[in-house]
Amino acid sequence: MKKVIDMINKNNKFLIISHTNPDGDSIGSQIALALGLEKMGKETYILNQDPPTNRYARFNRAELIHTGKKEFDEEVIFILDSAEIDRIGSARDEMDLTKPVINIDHHISNEKFGSINIVKPNHSSTAEIIYELLSRIVELDKEIATYLYIGILTDTGSFRYPNTTSHSLKVASKLVDYGVVASQVSEFIWFTDPPKRIKLLGDVLQSIKLYDNFSIMYVTRNMLKRRNAKEEDTEEFVNYGLSIEGIKACAIIKEREGGKLKVSLRSKNGINVQNLAAEYGGGGHKTASGFVTVGDLEKLKKELTEKLDRIVS
Ligand code: 5GP
Ligand code: MN
Repeated sequence: MKKVIDMINKNNKFLIISHTNPDGDSIGSQIALALGLEKMGKETYILNQDPPTNRYARFNRAELIHTGKKEFDEEVIFILDSAEIDRIGSARDEMDLTKPVINIDHHISNEKFGSINIVKPNHSSTAEIIYELLSRIVELDKEIATYLYIGILTDTGSFRYPNTTSHSLKVASKLVDYGVVASQVSEFIWFTDPPKRIKLLGDVLQSIKLYDNFSIMYVTRNMLKRRNAKEEDTEEFVNYGLSIEGIKACAIIKEREGGKLKVSLRSKNGINVQNLAAEYGGGGHKTASGFVTVGDLEKLKKELTEKLDRIVS
């Protein structure tokens, strides 16, 4: 951490990148870090391959997030919440490769691709690590705290997943002391769904196949079209597959353009789905992982059925 603080003190212009299809932890960590550094008089530029989804775009400071061509001459690059450099997608093409990279992440599989690497797998979220960094160098305030809280809230599934620890709850508590209105953040994120999302959820739940102790569901392009919805409207659907008594692991397969299939895996009761994602070139955490592959939906369903059966039994 000291090396990062030295780097911050000695430089002025920071590019802050996170992974493709950024989630609440990416966006919350990036914005909080940018606001903290700006408060210290530094210049920042947040860049991602993909824009924030509606759920996060409603927060005022989401406007700090850029996509596409970068207009910034960075001195230092932060890469947040990304286990591998490839996870940042096309944002990589915009990086000045001569500049130092500070890699901050909580994935156990992190490849330590940075000039400096702060990797803390026992932290619930990257936001929890950014909290530790910022609280040493700048006076936190309600706004910064709110973005950090978004990261912790979303990566712990509202403090329900196994990564919810005494430490993550303590940090959340401190953030609330800075003025975060917890119920308001929850309402913004979880209680503002467009009606089409709920209709689509009904369709997707119809697709669920229940096995002895795992489940598989899917979303096709046609299912999305029927409800005039996008893949982002399916965020978190995967959790319903795990919410069932006796179920220890679940998968959701999402059909993408160009024959691509995105899979999210979730597990409980000590079952590990990270290695399964890795078999397909993906990764993540023990109880939440994912990958993207190319192929046939039916064939992948069959493959995952066999593999999940082996993992849970
Ligand atoms: P989700 O299923 O919500 O997209 O992702 C769950 C977790 O799996 C994320 O925290 C992320 O770390 C990981 N993950 C998802 N998709 C990929 C992927 O394509 N590659 C890698 N390496 N990790 C992924
Ligand atoms: Mn994260």
